Amino acid sequence: MKNTCLLVQLVFVLCLLCAGLLFAQPADVLSSLDKSHPRLMLKDEDLQQLKKQCQSDKTLQKCLQDVLAEADGCIDARMLTYDKIGPRLLHVSRNCLHRIYALALAWRWTGDEKYARKAVENLLTVCAFKDWNPSHFLDTAEMSHAVGLGYDWLYPYLDGESRQKIKAALIKNGLEPGLSAYKKTWWAQSEFNWNQVCNGGMIIGALAIAETDPAYAEQIIPAAVRSLPLALKSYGPDGAWGEGPGYWSYATHYTAYGIAALQSALNKDFGLLQTKGLAESGSFPIYTTGPTGLFLNFADCGQRSSRRPMPCMFWLARVYNDPLYAQCEHEMIAKSRASPEHIIWYVPAPEKKPPVRDLDRYFRGPVEVAVLRSAWNDPDDLFVGVKAGYNQVNHGHLDLGNFELDALGVRWARDLGSENYNLPGYWDGKRGGQRWSYYRLNSASHNVPMLAGENQDQQATSSFTNVQLNKEYPFVHVDLTGAYEKYAKKVTRGVAMVENRRAVLVQDEFELKEPCEVAWAMTTDAKINIEQKSTAVLSASGKELIARVLSPADAEFVVESAEQKPPQESNKGVSRLLVRLPGAKGDVRIAVLLSPVWKDGKAVRQVEIKPVEEWTPPAIKSQASKIAEGLAG
Ligand SMILES: [Zn+2]
Repeated sequence: MKNTCLLVQLVFVLCLLCAGLLFAQPADVLSSLDKSHPRLMLKDEDLQQLKKQCQSDKTLQKCLQDVLAEADGCIDARMLTYDKIGPRLLHVSRNCLHRIYALALAWRWTGDEKYARKAVENLLTVCAFKDWNPSHFLDTAEMSHAVGLGYDWLYPYLDGESRQKIKAALIKNGLEPGLSAYKKTWWAQSEFNWNQVCNGGMIIGALAIAETDPAYAEQIIPAAVRSLPLALKSYGPDGAWGEGPGYWSYATHYTAYGIAALQSALNKDFGLLQTKGLAESGSFPIYTTGPTGLFLNFADCGQRSSRRPMPCMFWLARVYNDPLYAQCEHEMIAKSRASPEHIIWYVPAPEKKPPVRDLDRYFRGPVEVAVLRSAWNDPDDLFVGVKAGYNQVNHGHLDLGNFELDALGVRWARDLGSENYNLPGYWDGKRGGQRWSYYRLNSASHNVPMLAGENQDQQATSSFTNVQLNKEYPFVHVDLTGAYEKYAKKVTRGVAMVENRRAVLVQDEFELKEPCEVAWAMTTDAKINIEQKSTAVLSASGKELIARVLSPADAEFVVESAEQKPPQESNKGVSRLLVRLPGAKGDVRIAVLLSPVWKDGKAVRQVEIKPVEEWTPPAIKSQASKIAEGLAG
């Protein structure tokens, strides 16, 4: 037994050695350092290779034109100043970062001195700042990234005095505060975006000056390599990100910056690329984008946040050799501006089309997401996304079971998105915390059940209990009991696509402990006309969607406003479509059919309602015979 344990330990150590984790020791972390400049992410030989490819690659030529246009825009931009918004200097750090990437790459590619001159002017400006706002360390990390990259890429252009000034500021304003942060601040232990952003910024800053000032990299790289796995494991097992698709992008870009910098400067990734879920994570933004182009914007994702070009998709495509990620990003940059990082991580469009994508996808993990759609690549397609997970997740809202729905190019059921981060108590997410008084963050604005008009339990967790996807009649069940334990013994939400994926059924079942009002609700930008008590016609952009309460038989729709007073967002013109059952008791079921009126003028009008427990693919299929088509009403 003892020998077995020893053997297991030996194998574990060998695995770690293979993964490179044990190499992250202060003494030898820089043994493989490439001492030449530029060494971060894009070396001169990589640049020469890209230039060669650019001669025949039209997409790469387009990327270059986009970057040069951005760099030209930076030439006339007003100089950066130390202006905070609330406690943050982050917009200045990010602005500086964008400028340095565009200007420094434009100079390296064209050799035109005007770009280098402007980049250096920006670097010297921020290096003269009194600090980089270490109390909100993202600002420090992003500025260290900008200045580290600028120092490395512009090294041959910089004179000795400028090099000294930039290096001194990087140490004083970036790396010294970074060293103390690793000892005492929370983000090094964080499982979310701060981890990757702060570690990524520190890695780049430290590696930029590692040949002259190795002490910083010798401490920061081992600390970062110990810290990063805590956040990278949050991608597991399927690549989802609990803070929503907006923060997926922020966190994944910094995952890419950090690992790409380690690989280029030290020729190793310390095993980080093997983290479970990271290879799959490129699927998350692909699947959580509805046909409208809008994200399933749960957590503090911006309102109407849409998928835009994300160069980290090229990085993922490159390191994991995934043609789907490459193709999807090529589709994005064909219609929008490419970034400098698209050139740095460029992958040509796959010669062969990647295999057909599944229609539906279930992302497991602490925050679970399921998405169902009728087809790909037509903005009119039907799409519904549902989320489960836990209400205490970083940036989370009280939204377990929330759904969003697209059809006919319209987002019919929406999440209002994040509020103003500077509102008092915005980060006070404990039970009863001020965060939950804000409409956009609490249950009252979400497409979730409400019992007795109260929020979901602020510490509740939930998960999918039955997931039947990529079938003719796909559906999911979410156990929401934990969110409503005060009033209910059991709460289940079922969401299905019915009738050849032409409509969505949302069915909630409650086993109540005591009588209370039970409400079903959906937030929408559409104009709502209640034509009969149980039928509402939603209209937007000349399209219609019919909502019908199929159960209980006597239930009625009501419409309320989602508008709020300052200082909260106004949500102007946004409505709530609700079913309210006052004094409900015992077993209660609310089933609502959401039916787009398709181009042929038809809409699914009725489906047979069965208990969620009895939903099986054949049972739902049997509803087909009961369907009458035509406009409801
Ligand atoms: Zn929300």
